[in-house]
Amino acid sequence: MKIIDGKSISNQIKSEISAEVAKIIDNNGRAPHLASILVGEDPASQTYVENKAKACKKVGFVSSKYNLSAKDSENDLLETIEFLNNDQNVDGIIVQLPLPEHIDEKKIIQAVKPEKDVDGFHPINAGRMAIGLPAYISATPFGIMQLLQRSEIETKGKNCVVIGRSNIVGRPVSILMSQNADPGNATVTVCHSKTKNLQEISSNADILIVAIGKPELVNADMVKQGAVVIDVGIHRKPSTEKKSGFKLIGDVKFDEVSKKASYITPVPGGVGPMTIASLLINTLKASKKEIYPQTEHN
Ligand code: NAD
Repeated sequence: MKIIDGKSISNQIKSEISAEVAKIIDNNGRAPHLASILVGEDPASQTYVENKAKACKKVGFVSSKYNLSAKDSENDLLETIEFLNNDQNVDGIIVQLPLPEHIDEKKIIQAVKPEKDVDGFHPINAGRMAIGLPAYISATPFGIMQLLQRSEIETKGKNCVVIGRSNIVGRPVSILMSQNADPGNATVTVCHSKTKNLQEISSNADILIVAIGKPELVNADMVKQGAVVIDVGIHRKPSTEKKSGFKLIGDVKFDEVSKKASYITPVPGGVGPMTIASLLINTLKASKKEIYPQTEHN
């Protein structure tokens, strides 16, 4: 069994991005710029935004933060997005989710210009991705595809089972795995909360991608000998062994499943570290106008 080391792969991606940014600066170019908008004071969201800013700094990007109060109106947020949409020096915009209840998340997602939507949440990016056009692909599915590619895992013709159909993980990764691309070209089955015979289906998978949000739901009986297992879940489990009082676990029972898998992502250190790396890749692409060349959408 081999561990897919997301931490090391994400560090490798960050080094490649740093080298590319250094070249851009050497050629008198402008460093890529990511703008983050945070509404309210949710501590977890604050940490996510901080971590993204730190990662930007590490690779030589410019990052800027726009903090709105939880009491600010939807219009205030729309105005901030509009300002950033029009700022020629901003390449990527992320609006940290979730948003306060009085703000319509769908409306906000659609307010970010597709060319700057480095989270890949805008329906134009989701739609382009679905039909195989260049698009910003959202961080987690993109990170999973990077893990498979960089671990040189063959996906062509394989049976891939995705458990979970959320818009941010299960559905997009199932589309990417079925596309005529490398990685991709797999025969994909999507399972969800209404699936019958989950064990029968999952135990047929050569590649099993698990994004259920249920701690350690997938056990060894649900996994084929030699399968590649990608665990997207993250949960806190109380633990006296850790100073913090908890340890992180996934949707997969790592101890028993790792004995059957050929490759497996650990939690933490698997899919998690790839999300920021994916965001950085998208922001670099935005600064190079790789997805939407000047002629489109301007
Ligand atoms: P979600 O709750 O939006 O979706 C869960 C999906 O699982 C649903 O489609 C549901 O139909 C399916 N499901 C639920 N119970 C099931 C069951 N018993 N059998 C089969 N299918 C079942 O969750 P999400 O946003 O896709 O996230 C999934 C997990 O991944 C969560 O633990 C989340 O914290 C984690 N996550 C991690 C990262 C990361 O960076 N590592 C990013 C996003 C999400």
